[in-house]
Amino acid sequence: MKHLVFGGIWLGFYLAIVLAPVAALLLVPTPQGGGFWWDVSMGLGFAALTMMAVQFVLTARFKRATAPFGVDVIYAFHRYLAYALLVIVLIHPLILILRDPSLLPAITAPWTVSFEISAGTVSLALLLVLVAASAFRKQLRIPYGTWRFTHLILSLGAVAFAFMHMFGISYYTDPPLIRGLWWLIGISILAIVVFVRFLRPLAMHRKPYQVTEVRPERADSWTVVVDPEGHDGFDFEPGQFAWLSVDRSPLLMSEHPFSIASAPGQGGRVEFVIKELGDFTNTIGQVEPGTRAYVDGPYGSFSVDRHPEAPGYGFMAGGIGIAPLISMIRTLDERGDRRPLVLFTGHSTWDRVPLREELDELEERMNLKVVHVLEKPPEDWEGESGWITREMLDRHLPEGRREFHYFICGPIPMIRAMEEFLGELGVRGTNIHTELFDMV
Ligand SMILES: Cc1cc2nc3c(=O)[nH]c(=O)nc-3n(C[C@H](O)[C@H](O)[C@H](O)COP(=O)(O)OP(=O)(O)OC[C@H]3O[C@@H](n4cnc5c(N)ncnc54)[C@H](O)[C@@H]3O)c2cc1C
Repeated sequence: MKHLVFGGIWLGFYLAIVLAPVAALLLVPTPQGGGFWWDVSMGLGFAALTMMAVQFVLTARFKRATAPFGVDVIYAFHRYLAYALLVIVLIHPLILILRDPSLLPAITAPWTVSFEISAGTVSLALLLVLVAASAFRKQLRIPYGTWRFTHLILSLGAVAFAFMHMFGISYYTDPPLIRGLWWLIGISILAIVVFVRFLRPLAMHRKPYQVTEVRPERADSWTVVVDPEGHDGFDFEPGQFAWLSVDRSPLLMSEHPFSIASAPGQGGRVEFVIKELGDFTNTIGQVEPGTRAYVDGPYGSFSVDRHPEAPGYGFMAGGIGIAPLISMIRTLDERGDRRPLVLFTGHSTWDRVPLREELDELEERMNLKVVHVLEKPPEDWEGESGWITREMLDRHLPEGRREFHYFICGPIPMIRAMEEFLGELGVRGTNIHTELFDMV
């Protein structure tokens, strides 16, 4: 409930910020030859520029601001807002051109119009590239690191040209109050970028970690243990995640997100279970103990601690999706929690079930049932096989399951299927929580 209230307050705050510059337009009379559609177009332009500014705040990973939702939800919000923003930016000149077709060259031949008009066109073009590169990054095969760096440059460019467009035309920004407001917005964007890209990474330098253990797990995965060096680390809720960089300065934008797999309260020690999947993760197994690391966290809202009142919990892991779930199960074990827990894991073969010995031990000790579902089971396998189905959930989830809270982490098709099956078993959507290991 507290989180919903916070969420409502933040949403109201967002709308107030986006609409404030539109309201400020009312202070300035419409120029001769303007009219209703002119005002609409200007209002959209100003709203779009404020939305651009807020996009920087959304992705700045301010812990207090993201806590009510979880940073993954914020990133999704950022993505959808970007689409809305692009539509608004496109409508802004479209209205003007429909009113007065002689303005078309501003888009078709921007080099023939004044600088302040062409600056708007450049901003629009940068925004188009920015959104297209993000929406189709995987299809375009843009490596994540390259995308991330160009995303920053393109977004700064789009905002800079939008400001030149607005200040160049200057009609609506002449009154000192409005001009001051826009300067404040512009300086805030720069301050956020400086804070996120330089000051926060510099602060992380003062709180380094050391890799103390790297041990192999099944299915090309590794448990990586890091301990804080000369500080207490941070508190976290089981199931949350952190950004990890190993042997590289946090200034280099080289951090990757990983769920924390360990339980909290171990003197700042944090464990990750990392699967080999690409440039960074393929090298994780060769990291030597003693290597310097940096951990920025905690983030996310995928945690049993956000739903402590549940009479029991169901967990569903696809592959390495076990990582945040094992953190929650280990934590409940340490707390001596006796509520019923059921864990479903989906893997291709028996050899590729990470942490399965530990899961056996936990099953002995706790009120926990583990159901391994194997795509290709061995001949003598007596357990479940194939994909996790509705019937399997029905078979293994105990009485009272409708009131349980469920935590699902795995590939999208699996998450969607589990949501559907749980819905069919009468579980409310508010009791189902998901984590996707894929932000962009
Ligand atoms: C919230 C969250 C929790 C995660 N937890 C785990 C975990 O516990 N264990 C685990 O093995 N994996 C986890 N992942 C996935 C992990 O972040 C990626 O597998 C890893 O970053 C891949 O990097 P790479 O350089 O090896 O591969 P690449 O080939 O460079 O990247 C593969 C894909 O991973 C994603 N990715 C890469 N770098 C980043 C980055 N810096 N930020 C965001 N996404 C990135 C991109 O979608 C990319 O296409 C998690 C991801 C998220 C978003």
